[in-house]
Amino acid sequence: MTKRFFHIFALVFATLVLTACPHVDPDGPDGPVPPVTPDDSWRNQASKEKLSGITYQLNVYSFADSDGDGWGDIRGITQHLDYLDSIGATALWLSPIHESMSYHGYNVNDYCSVNPRLGSEADLQDLISQAKTRNIDIYLDFVLNHSGKDNIWFKQAMSDPSGIYGNYYVFEDKPGESVTGGMGTWCSTSSGNVGYEGRLHFKLDWGKKTVTVTETTDAAQGPSSSASKWLYYGDGKLAGLYETSSGIFEITLDFKSEWGFLIRTSTTSWDSGTKWGGTAGKKVQFGTPYAINSNPAADITFGGESLSYWASFDASMPDLYYGPHAKASESSTFKDLAAAADKWIDMGVAGLRLDAVIWIYQNNTAANVSFLKQWYERCNTSWKARGGKGDFYMVGESWCDNAEKMAPYYEGLPSNFNFYYGFTLKDRIGKGKGDDFAKTVIYFQNLFRAYRSDFIDATFLSNHDQDRFASDLGRDIAKEKLAAAVLLTSPGKPFIYQGEELGYWGTKSRGDEYVRTPIKWTRSGSVPSSALNGKVDNSMLNAEISVEAQEQNQASVLRVYRDFAKARNGWKALAKGQIEEIISPNAAVAMWKMSYEGQTVLVLHNFGSAGPVLPLSNYKTDKLIVSNGMVTVSNGAVALGAYSSAVFLQ
Ligand code: MG
Repeated sequence: MTKRFFHIFALVFATLVLTACPHVDPDGPDGPVPPVTPDDSWRNQASKEKLSGITYQLNVYSFADSDGDGWGDIRGITQHLDYLDSIGATALWLSPIHESMSYHGYNVNDYCSVNPRLGSEADLQDLISQAKTRNIDIYLDFVLNHSGKDNIWFKQAMSDPSGIYGNYYVFEDKPGESVTGGMGTWCSTSSGNVGYEGRLHFKLDWGKKTVTVTETTDAAQGPSSSASKWLYYGDGKLAGLYETSSGIFEITLDFKSEWGFLIRTSTTSWDSGTKWGGTAGKKVQFGTPYAINSNPAADITFGGESLSYWASFDASMPDLYYGPHAKASESSTFKDLAAAADKWIDMGVAGLRLDAVIWIYQNNTAANVSFLKQWYERCNTSWKARGGKGDFYMVGESWCDNAEKMAPYYEGLPSNFNFYYGFTLKDRIGKGKGDDFAKTVIYFQNLFRAYRSDFIDATFLSNHDQDRFASDLGRDIAKEKLAAAVLLTSPGKPFIYQGEELGYWGTKSRGDEYVRTPIKWTRSGSVPSSALNGKVDNSMLNAEISVEAQEQNQASVLRVYRDFAKARNGWKALAKGQIEEIISPNAAVAMWKMSYEGQTVLVLHNFGSAGPVLPLSNYKTDKLIVSNGMVTVSNGAVALGAYSSAVFLQ
């Protein structure tokens, strides 16, 4: 059953007394109709430019399929630019377009390529050009933390770890500052036998913390019975070493172990400091001193092709290595990636979204920020050199535990995703509590401003790595519309995630694919699902959720996105304004003002299910810019129906 929403037309009389009358479906076929007033010249203050800064996040592989192969593609995006224009987009963030072993593209084989399944460089150039005619910029997703395992750099590094590409990744012999904590794992590529069988001489230099192993034909010794250091090997064998001079411990024995050996300083304890080993995967070179460590203390191995690399996410995504952060821009890795970025900037790409930036230096904020400063500076220089207007846009996926930990990333990048905005909004809508929302938004802004005065707060509801916002809201369409209205009337640079504008739901519990669902363009048409291996929720993709159906439905979620995007694009105070909290007279209602260059708007959102009447005689309520849900204006009071929103020009 389609819900019907009632708007109220405010009528201005000469006495400035407002009266109101209810009206059903006031929006004409071409968009929302402004409140009927004898004089609507105030509308001329709305800009004809696109001011909003709205970015639409889309998955290239599942947005629109131009050639019927079941994969979304770049030409599919170009074919739907009018749709993207209709929801006010001023930029598109494309999921990674490069050749990759995965459908989602986050393990990149070649940063200079376009994945043929998604299209060609010519297709991308055409998209950039056609988008530009609609004042839409193109941002690419750029993955700096790791490459794909099939990347030629990684293949060359594996075949010759001591060669130039060995420095592009984090191998076990140089964990350095790259691996100091956080998530991730060493991925072993060991093959063959890593143990040894034969007569060996061991010489432990305790002062230098090295052990030298030599093949020998000298007579074997039994273990020392008065040892303080032991060789641990084979099936739990312990052999006491002889102290042959101060700090030097030796033994010759018939050695047999399938896994290698360790040095121990206790026959009973395995506590830290009593077990000494090597660096994972680093092989013994006979006759050469081998450095030992107590933490970590990996097995000291003899042979095979053992090599381990660091991967923050999984084995298909080996982490890239840029050397010490202060000199990251001097690394070949950085230079090669910058050259790739230059190629796309030269083509007209106007921004980058950087994946997983907190893991580049393993959640070391200072190191990451140092790196990101260099990366941004490099790309912005390229942008300006090719005549780019203003500064290059760059937004980081700097997803930290909280906004306080994320804020320092503003020293490195002009824009960062504000995960905490969406978390807060979800929480408050769930609680029906709006009166502290503006205060929280301002709190976030002050955090960010401390690190960058011209910060660009990248607000959003959810993205491709999260459960859908609609699922979080219990698939309540009224709440989804409210969330859209709040997002598009908040300060910052709002991102709309593919399908959100249609009310898509989905959770990751069934697989990431279920939060990356293709757009259903027509009531009867199919969706491109090959990239997702058919993992689409057909119960959601019914005819009525399609773009075709929602464009014809005055009460659709899409309608609210279009209405509020249009308002944001036209009213500079909404798009660029400084937020000022208004103390709300009702706990459910969020209130704030937005002001820019002499223009001010009053923003009201009811986060609750009740219908409060707000005494607003101190504000102007005769010029309604945009609304959602039931909004009644009468004698200086505004009645807000459940989950409704209104924006008034001041
Ligand atoms: Mg296709």
